[in-house]
Amino acid sequence: MPCDGAGKEVVPEAIKVLRAAGADFEFEQFDVNADAYLRTGVAIPDDVWKQLAAADAILFGAVGDPRVQDPNYLAGVLLRLRFELDLYVNLRPAKLYDDRLSPLRREDRRRTDLLIMRENTEGLYVGMGGRFKKGTEEEIATQEDVNTHLGVTRIIEHAFKTAKREVVMVDKSNAMVFAGGLWQECWKAVAAANPKVKTRHLLVDAAAMQLVKDPSQFDVIVTGNLFGDILSDLTAELVGGMGIAPSANINPSSGRGLFEPVHGTAPDIAGKGMVNPVGAILSAAMMVKHLGVPDMADAIEGAVESAIRARECTRDIGGDLSTSQAGDAIVKRLKD
Ligand code: ATP
Repeated sequence: MPCDGAGKEVVPEAIKVLRAAGADFEFEQFDVNADAYLRTGVAIPDDVWKQLAAADAILFGAVGDPRVQDPNYLAGVLLRLRFELDLYVNLRPAKLYDDRLSPLRREDRRRTDLLIMRENTEGLYVGMGGRFKKGTEEEIATQEDVNTHLGVTRIIEHAFKTAKREVVMVDKSNAMVFAGGLWQECWKAVAAANPKVKTRHLLVDAAAMQLVKDPSQFDVIVTGNLFGDILSDLTAELVGGMGIAPSANINPSSGRGLFEPVHGTAPDIAGKGMVNPVGAILSAAMMVKHLGVPDMADAIEGAVESAIRARECTRDIGGDLSTSQAGDAIVKRLKD
């Protein structure tokens, strides 16, 4: 699903790299995009939905278009896939492949290899709330923060399964006492059941500060939908920016998964051959790992790292290649 804008440019590069890495998956492309939405008023047609719901994995570009102001489009594509396929784990790794890409002055604290694990199906993104007395000076707008015992417990449990060194839980339980109280209780219960894993709790403001001060201290950070969204943009910048950040949306129980670069449609640079394909390519690597081919994922990541270090990459990370040339530089390394 390349969808819109930059997505249309980066997904073909990711497929090119998967083919070069030897993947013999069958790909089916769906024309879910703003043009189709403007024409039909339908975000995902029923027959397409059935096929998406049955796919082993979905490789996704980006959704959005300045011509579509209607929030039902975004909600009907990406949020629908995340919610209805119950892709409750959003993995957003940040790894520094080349020292020169870090904005931090302190060399000894630059090393970054961490994972933001964001709850992906609840929180402030469920669309509950409303506007009362709309358009008047007395207007009231509410946005509900939905947190369930099951939803909070399962994401924290997955963090413990994934961590190598430590799990840090991030919330704002001092100010948001109801949601924060539930997160605290679930956190303590899951931590008690996993005594071998080191644990730490940070308020989200302190976490933002510590991530800039010394990202090398972190392994897995587990948090809610909104904080995970925000902190993962921060961690993307610690390792080279939006162009290289990958993500996975998965349900570890059902095996369903959607893999997408963290960036959006990048309307300022889309269509000019300047978009960095690395975020989509690393997302494809996460996809093959999820599909049970970890060696292929490692080979793709190694090829990406080597191309970045040789500056065979797009402008945003210090090279001078176009989108497809940057894809070719990674392909060449996989074939060598
Ligand atoms: P959307 O509304 O679809 O989220 P956006 O512009 O608000 O779009 P992003 O697409 O994430 O958000 O882009 C944020 C910034 O990062 C933009 O300046 C964009 O040019 C840059 N950017 C995003 N993706 C890439 C990429 N693949 N390569 C290079 N720069 C990128």
